[in-house]
Amino acid sequence: MLEVVNPATGRMLRGLEPATVADADAAVARAKAAFPKWRAVEPAERSRMLRRLADALDRERESLAQLESRNTGKPISDARGEMGMVAETFHYYAGMPERNLGETIPVSGGIDMTFREPLGVVALIVPWNFPLTIASWKMAPALAAGNTLVLKPAELTPLSAIEFDRIALEAGLPEGVVNVVVGPGRTVGQRLVEHEDVAKVAFTGSTEVGRGIMAAASKTIKRVTLELGGKSANIVFADADLERAAAAAPPAFLGNAGQDCCARSRILVERSAMDEFMSHFERAVKAVRVGDPASEKTEMGPLISASHREKVASFVPEDAPVAFRGAAPEGPGFWFPPTVLAPVSNSDRVAREEVFGPVVAVIPFKDEDDAVRLANETVYGLSGSVWTTNGAKALRVARAVETGVLSVNSNTSVRVATPFGGFKQSGIGRELGPRALEHYTEVKNVYFSTEEDQVGR
Ligand code: NAP
Ligand code: MG
Repeated sequence: MLEVVNPATGRMLRGLEPATVADADAAVARAKAAFPKWRAVEPAERSRMLRRLADALDRERESLAQLESRNTGKPISDARGEMGMVAETFHYYAGMPERNLGETIPVSGGIDMTFREPLGVVALIVPWNFPLTIASWKMAPALAAGNTLVLKPAELTPLSAIEFDRIALEAGLPEGVVNVVVGPGRTVGQRLVEHEDVAKVAFTGSTEVGRGIMAAASKTIKRVTLELGGKSANIVFADADLERAAAAAPPAFLGNAGQDCCARSRILVERSAMDEFMSHFERAVKAVRVGDPASEKTEMGPLISASHREKVASFVPEDAPVAFRGAAPEGPGFWFPPTVLAPVSNSDRVAREEVFGPVVAVIPFKDEDDAVRLANETVYGLSGSVWTTNGAKALRVARAVETGVLSVNSNTSVRVATPFGGFKQSGIGRELGPRALEHYTEVKNVYFSTEEDQVGR
């Protein structure tokens, strides 16, 4: 039996019978059977169906947020924001079926045109940090493009996906278009990746598992998009509004208890501004309200599990340079205090590896070149920030940092309408925005001869 736990209490929320490999096969078979009819639904009608689903998600936003908060331990106010984005993502892609445009290309002897066609059955494998949000970034474009899908949520956090399955059916999506299987990654997930009838895998999770998925997908030349880890830099120049930069830095490393691939878990601070930044930053970190996720005022909850807490703790050994810590409740639940390490060298383990917890490494730098060098000295390249009042410098640095998304005088990473994804070992492909559709379609080129007497070229 799979015991789904509330990380804030350590108590069981629900027991589930985990899916088997045979269940995964059955889900793929249902998706395959539903594909011909779903792809044939007229674009305008598919738009209407997705809009109805988006409306239903809006209506169920509060109950979904409560469920997601209980299952992940994330603060209820965060969960509400996320469920808002889930609905918004479906609203956005609901407009896409009629805008899935091809091209006409000038060639001699005829007319050449391209079509974007759905892939077929796509498998979506998602992690526990933003369970339904990350699933929606994959499901909405996949469905808009005419694919059917099998969603495998993380075993730790399957409840919102199970609810989504019900909501989609009630909103009128045909049977078999959306299929949810709740089972272990190494069996059920692996099966989806290897299955001959699955055309594509969209994965979010650890770089290690992503590597394995890429290898396993090679057997059937499956399309793969990967959204993996990060070790993003929050670069603060001495000419920045230091108070503002410091006030924005806590949510950027401890939001979602630091379990965020976009976390700015390295803060690079220009040496001459170090003392001033750190004093503002300390005040901001200590003011963060850590505690009961169900409370409206809570800003940070617990980590996802006891074993994950052990992993996070391994990044803060006895001799770690702890500058200061924030609060954390006692008692049951997988709590870990916000922890600021300073000064850290960019070659230290905590500056190289993804912690996925509320631990940040503050690294001093000398000048602009030094900042860019340090920011890029990582295998990852997912997000990042630059804080400065010098516009030209902001743009120079933004262009020089090897990363998929970057914010100037802000630490935000994702918007429904803009592309999101990683450079280097942070992944392959882009989610959100119009480009996501490219990853759920295949390009077909059709040449139409306009000559009467042509034998054929
Ligand atoms: P993970 O193992 O990569 O899990 C992500 C998803 O992949 C889950 O649904 C998991 O299923 C599934 N999975 C695991 N092994 C698989 C396999 N062999 N084939 C197919 N699917 C498989 O991530 P995790 O263990 O939960 O977290 C480990 C670390 O990954 C974290 O500490 C963090 O550093 C990183 N991480 C990054 C992100 C991100 O957003 N980029 C998200 C989560 C974690 P089950 O869990 O149900 O077995
Ligand atoms: Mg794992």
